[in-house]
Amino acid sequence: MTTIRFEAADAADYTAIGEGLTRPARAAGRLATDRADAKYALVHGDGCGVCGRAIEPGDAFYLDVDSGDVLCEDHGRERRADGERDGRAE
Ligand SMILES: [Zn+2]
Repeated sequence: MTTIRFEAADAADYTAIGEGLTRPARAAGRLATDRADAKYALVHGDGCGVCGRAIEPGDAFYLDVDSGDVLCEDHGRERRADGERDGRAE
């Protein structure tokens, strides 16, 4: 499970990303290259995949690369914690 944290959304519907994140953004089906002010952007206008909460400008949020879901800070942290638990040998 790969979950990427973003520090702050640029807008409600998308956030500019660096070239290094285009691969996971594309894998998640969320890469946009047609924004006037961003060469590469991650689109997240559908909000959190768990609770539906909109990602507001300035909000931290997460991308679950495997499912393609964008997650609000609470649910992203939760899913990431689950993944870590799954990966631990006990
Ligand atoms: Zn949520």
